[in-house]
Amino acid sequence: MPDLAAIVADIAAEMADAPDRGTVAQYIPPLAAVDPKRFGIAIVTDDGREYVAGDGDMGFSIQSISKVFALTLALGAVGDQLWQRVGVEPSGTPFNSIVQLESEHGIPRNPFINAGAIVVTDILLGRGEPREAIGEMLRFVRTLAGDDAIYIDDAVARAELETGHRNIALAHYMRGFGNLNREVARVLGVYFHHCALTMSCRQLARAGRYLMDGGRNPETGHNVVSARRARRINALMLTCGHYDGSGEFAFRVGLPGKSGVGGGILAVAPGIASIAVWSPGLNERGNSQLGTLALERLVHRTGWSIFDPR
Ligand code: GLU
Repeated sequence: MPDLAAIVADIAAEMADAPDRGTVAQYIPPLAAVDPKRFGIAIVTDDGREYVAGDGDMGFSIQSISKVFALTLALGAVGDQLWQRVGVEPSGTPFNSIVQLESEHGIPRNPFINAGAIVVTDILLGRGEPREAIGEMLRFVRTLAGDDAIYIDDAVARAELETGHRNIALAHYMRGFGNLNREVARVLGVYFHHCALTMSCRQLARAGRYLMDGGRNPETGHNVVSARRARRINALMLTCGHYDGSGEFAFRVGLPGKSGVGGGILAVAPGIASIAVWSPGLNERGNSQLGTLALERLVHRTGWSIFDPR
């Protein structure tokens, strides 16, 4: 195993001096207020060791990274039936794009763009109340991370509702095609609360452990999902986890990963480590500028890309 304590410390020091930090997301007002100088990294290895540097214990809005946990829960609820309503192809379009929905009859390309996650949320709502679906997600993420301090930031959820015109349009459009069963306002209320989960890099890396370990949470020994399902979620993260920047992320980093507009990225080195990075400045595709650079350097120094020979 490489000297990970030294590697995360070096990367955090390098990122502190990085000149080009990208642009903090503006369309959700509380996110626009986050200090662009922040950078955090956390690695949890297969043997349970944790390596944290920079602002790795500071909470941030995980935003679209929640789509991974929502998908995992929804697959547990309805199994592979889910794939009748959501595709598994990269979209090549921005996170909130509507264009492909018309020709594809309201079936979103994949569960990691907004349209797909809104359908996944509709599935999670099932016959229950929004409050229950939000509570179920919060409990799930807390259990995955083994940390009851994780919370949902209501101010972020409210701000998203007030500014979420494109998500509202996506949801109505899919309901028009019959691919949304519950009322738009209820589905989006739950979706925005998922996006408003606040977690640190350490908490996020812990929550992702099941994806490095064939679906098993190494802390509890319980199977969160089957090995086959974990493999498929990783495949979707690799091909669709960074919107229209997914190809570039695979090219530069070569790990399954999911980004969020809060500037976080959860990445998985199967069998080796669960990794979270955070820096709020985004590149032109809406993915963390320094988060991507930090992962690129980590993979270069460790040989952890899934395309490196084992
Ligand atoms: N809550 C955000 C939205 O729906 C999530 C987007 C993201 O992280 O990419 O606009």
